[in-house]
Amino acid sequence: MLTSYLINDTLAVDAGALSVGLSRAEQLRLRSIIITHTHLDHVASLPLLITDLFEDLREPLKLFATASDFEALSAHIFNPRMWIGLETLKNEHTELLSYQPMESGRSFTAEGLRVTPLPVSHTVLTHGLLVEDETSAVFFTSDTGPTERAWQAVNECAKLRAVLIDLSFPAALTELARVSGHHSTTTLVEEMKKIKPAATVYAIHLKTPYRDRIIAEIEALNDPRLTVAEVGREYLF
Ligand SMILES: [Zn+2]
Ligand SMILES: [Zn+2]
Repeated sequence: MLTSYLINDTLAVDAGALSVGLSRAEQLRLRSIIITHTHLDHVASLPLLITDLFEDLREPLKLFATASDFEALSAHIFNPRMWIGLETLKNEHTELLSYQPMESGRSFTAEGLRVTPLPVSHTVLTHGLLVEDETSAVFFTSDTGPTERAWQAVNECAKLRAVLIDLSFPAALTELARVSGHHSTTTLVEEMKKIKPAATVYAIHLKTPYRDRIIAEIEALNDPRLTVAEVGREYLF
């Protein structure tokens, strides 16, 4: 599955797999989507999701993204050559999408949760998302290699329970991870030192061809704080 996380049934982080990973009933409960960056594995299902929901939407889906990312989606995906234009995304009741501007470091509320977008280190401007309710907080790094600034804000969060962190490549492909703005098992071990010990760390974004190798490497580390997140599993924090 491409990158998508569903929080409390109504909020999605990224739209890589929403049209194929969620049942229709689950898709209809979805109210807001946050885009961390516009790489295809994070937005591929967005145009399909919108048109699948065409008849049933009675109010727009909220789409949180930076102005630059929304511009990229408008220009390169929601156009008649690739799919359909944004201006035609409406049914007899409502517009299908409602754009909600997102800015680095500026917290906003989505589906009752406080979300803070924090820039990470990828090949394009990408935001990790610190997501908080009254009692817990979780940080999704999205795609990133070694980074510094985001950890300051994340570690200051007293409610932090978990970090979901990019681990795209096995140790042998550390150079490829470096040039593509991702972690390998080697760089992740170093990055773990920057994350406060109270947080459980889940590796995400494992590239499919290396999944088994990466899982074996993580198991060999035998670090009780670090596990590979399971696709399709529900986690409670
Ligand atoms: Zn990316
Ligand atoms: Zn990605």
